[in-house]
Amino acid sequence: MMQRLEATSIAVELAGDAPIIGGVGNSTFDLVPYDRPRNFYMWNSMGMASSIGLGLALARPDLRVIVLDGDGSVLMNLSSLATETACGVQNLVHVIWDNGGWEITGGQPAGSPFGVNLEAVARGCGFLKAVTVDDLVSFREVFMEAMADDQPWAIVGLIEAGDSPYRPSKNCIALRDRFRASL
Ligand SMILES: [Mg+2]
Repeated sequence: MMQRLEATSIAVELAGDAPIIGGVGNSTFDLVPYDRPRNFYMWNSMGMASSIGLGLALARPDLRVIVLDGDGSVLMNLSSLATETACGVQNLVHVIWDNGGWEITGGQPAGSPFGVNLEAVARGCGFLKAVTVDDLVSFREVFMEAMADDQPWAIVGLIEAGDSPYRPSKNCIALRDRFRASL
């Protein structure tokens, strides 16, 4: 299993100029030490990072758009995976950190501990490129391939449990405006 912070650093390193949308809670928090204008730190809108990413990907087909999501967030907005393929988006890389539950709200188990396979869900929703990785070397390889590709990817990254010590500003308007200006 991977440390989310280390895997996040690889995603940012390989992102180049690509925008990154952080999911609610730890997925966003671990982006903070790798701050850049094209990071969008989403506060509170649980499950909606992928919807923000989808909208951006459809509006800007010249960019690959990265979403760093949590398994609990995907479970909260499970239809987002079907919506992504139904929209025909080609330039979305949807990373799902799977730590087996809702860490930020107290570590309630959900999803994979009960046999939910989010890679299989993504495949069932029409993703031709859906993989699960559990080590940093594999994540780097798969993420590079996804970034260089011209079709949507769902990457499930198995990560250790653990809360992030980092927090972005709570000035959501400033966060939005900086991200918007960068694009
Ligand atoms: Mg989780």
